[in-house]
Amino acid sequence: MLLLLLNKSNRQTHVSAMKLYTATENLQSKIMDITSIIAPLNDAQRAAVTAPSQAMLILAGAGSGKTRVLVHRIVWQIQVNHVSPQSIIAVTFTNKAANEMRGRIESLLENSASAMWIGTFHGLAHRFLRRHAKEAHLPKDFQVLDSSDQQRMIKRLLADLKINEKELPPKEIQWFINAQKDAGIRSKDILETTDKNTRRFLRIYREYETLCERNGVVDFAELLLRAYELIRDDERLRYQYQERFSQIHVDEFQDTNTIQYAWLTLLSPNRDNMFVVGDDDQAIYGWRGAKIENIYKFQREYPQHQIIKLEQNYRSTGSILKAANQIITNNTGRMGKSLWTEMADGEKITVYAAYDEVDEANYVVERIKNWVGEGNKRSDSAILYRSNAQSRQFEEKLMLSNTPYRVYGGLRFYDRAEIKNVLAYLRLLVNRHDDASIDRIINTPTRGIGLKTLDEIRKLAHEKQISLWAAANSLITEKVLPNRAANALFNFLDLIAQLDNKIANLTLGEKVHFVIEHTRLMAFYSQDKLEKSADKVENLKELVNAATVFINDEIEKDISDLSIFLNRAALESGALQGEEFEDCVQLMTLHTAKGLEFPLVFLVGVEDGLFPSQQSIFDQVKLEEERRLCYVGITRAMRKLHITYAESRRLYGDKTYARKSRFLRELPTELLDEVRPKREVSRPITAKPIFSTVNKLLELEPDSKFKKGQHIHHETFGSGIILNVEGEGEKERILIKFRGVEKWLMTAYAELTTIRS
Ligand code: ATP
Ligand code: MG
Repeated sequence: MLLLLLNKSNRQTHVSAMKLYTATENLQSKIMDITSIIAPLNDAQRAAVTAPSQAMLILAGAGSGKTRVLVHRIVWQIQVNHVSPQSIIAVTFTNKAANEMRGRIESLLENSASAMWIGTFHGLAHRFLRRHAKEAHLPKDFQVLDSSDQQRMIKRLLADLKINEKELPPKEIQWFINAQKDAGIRSKDILETTDKNTRRFLRIYREYETLCERNGVVDFAELLLRAYELIRDDERLRYQYQERFSQIHVDEFQDTNTIQYAWLTLLSPNRDNMFVVGDDDQAIYGWRGAKIENIYKFQREYPQHQIIKLEQNYRSTGSILKAANQIITNNTGRMGKSLWTEMADGEKITVYAAYDEVDEANYVVERIKNWVGEGNKRSDSAILYRSNAQSRQFEEKLMLSNTPYRVYGGLRFYDRAEIKNVLAYLRLLVNRHDDASIDRIINTPTRGIGLKTLDEIRKLAHEKQISLWAAANSLITEKVLPNRAANALFNFLDLIAQLDNKIANLTLGEKVHFVIEHTRLMAFYSQDKLEKSADKVENLKELVNAATVFINDEIEKDISDLSIFLNRAALESGALQGEEFEDCVQLMTLHTAKGLEFPLVFLVGVEDGLFPSQQSIFDQVKLEEERRLCYVGITRAMRKLHITYAESRRLYGDKTYARKSRFLRELPTELLDEVRPKREVSRPITAKPIFSTVNKLLELEPDSKFKKGQHIHHETFGSGIILNVEGEGEKERILIKFRGVEKWLMTAYAELTTIRS
């Protein structure tokens, strides 16, 4: 018995020792977890990561570790507070940023993060609606409309309602509907007004809602609004999700819109579990309905919140950071914060005044080649631009130098729909039997050739084994189509014939220009009010540029420039883009670059009219948003930043002269290293040429002290740049671009001083 007892107590001691051991082990592993999560953080970051569950606002400048804090906070909640991954929701702005966030969390957790809801607002709303399609009154397999699908649907609706598209452009309607939805307003919430225009918009909005409902489709704005309404109106679901998401995290909070904010608020009834990070200086989506004021609203509506400011920047060198800090002080109404770094000043910011856009692209690609030559990765370099159309020059030069690159957040130039449309017309002009091209543009822009007519054409082509073009012609001559359809089709065939006739004697650039104008493609894209359509117009202009400067270097001269140009364009589209995991130079717009960082950054096209964009120059609110975009751009750079601008640039085939951007002028000169292209070949005039090639050069170049691209000063007109030199000696004259005017001057008489660059 005693033995038994002893044994028992022994066993108990053993068990408690085991427990103690396990407890210590747990404690040790917990301490290890804690240390590993907070060790790589500074004090302020640590305070944010380890704060008790409450409303938290982390307000801080670029590169101060906001995203890092958010990631570590999630890991902290899981590993230290044992929050279930299921209870975590984290929202950010782009898919790229969401993937990066997921990756960082997984590598810290050493585990999959698939149970968490990490994604963009649209992505998460979509997931939510898929799960609860029934409750949301959507069919199980509802389809999402992208922006162009949405527009097509509006067009169909206008046709049904017999409303002329010219009177009410579909893009304007689309803009109206999306803006209403982004603000949480349904058509039934809008009061009838006497204003005729609003009444028409309203009517179409109503019809559009019904049509979407009937077809079982939702557009992007609808995803957000529907998800919001479902949570608002379905009590059971609301409770379920409020229970489920015990921790809500939002990155880039400054760019949330009304409906996104409202949705988040519904998920957090006690207002004690929302962890948001943002930077008012990086709000760049005002044009799409984002509200910086949400930061103030949060402070009002979450009274128990704690604000933490992060001030140390870990991303950029001293010079880059000083430049960023300086430029943003020109904005008004900032929340105000200062950023500092322990890092050395590093290299100055190089500012390159390119002669033109080709020179600019050459400069950038040369630098990237040198950088890669020094053993760096291509993917550590990025070319950032204001608008998508600017990518073409860089794509071309990168391709010529066999440098893999990747264009983010947009298609490569020659893959873009508007460009393909123009090319399809051009191809058709070269070859009428190009069925794919006819198919693409027969009703683009819309010209009343309906699906029925198209079916007829296809059927006939198939039966007779002829091309669509031949079939279309035959339908006209045999008069088998109803009058209206026949007219529309005839007009198309006639348009192609007319174009062919009229462009015969034009240069390649003029041909492309003519086709873009006379097919009404330019008008079609110009009516739009959306930012995206402005991009499309830019792209069309850029295509004219590409054609204007295109050099046909094929040996067989009997093939037309147009054919060669089209073949090149076809080759440039698609195939050559770097593979997903290949080491590629990164090309993207400034908007897409938000949240990212790169050791080497080129900020290109920094000219007034391009960046800041023309529409924003005279509008204080827009100008400040552009300046924030510039701040975002500068702060992407870690080690080296190059800013470039071109003194002349081709826009729509014409040379235009630009001034360097006011943003550049706002940067402190001591941080800049200004470089100009070498334009002067210094050679003693009397020296005898040694090599024949030099001899040839001398023969070709008239012996003038004036060179194209050279900077010059005139007594009366001030400073200017030489655009052209003609004639020699007494007859020599030069074309100079002064501020706002161009003048031919005889060099023998003009009071000119050259400015050495
Ligand atoms: P943005 O405003 O551009 O989104 P951010 O505030 O989100 O910037 P992060 O991207 O989180 O900044 O961090 C910027 C860089 O600084 C990252 O490379 C990050 O790993 C690094 N970093 C942040 N905090 C620290 C720290 N305490 N120690 C070392 N590196 C850090
Ligand atoms: Mg970030």
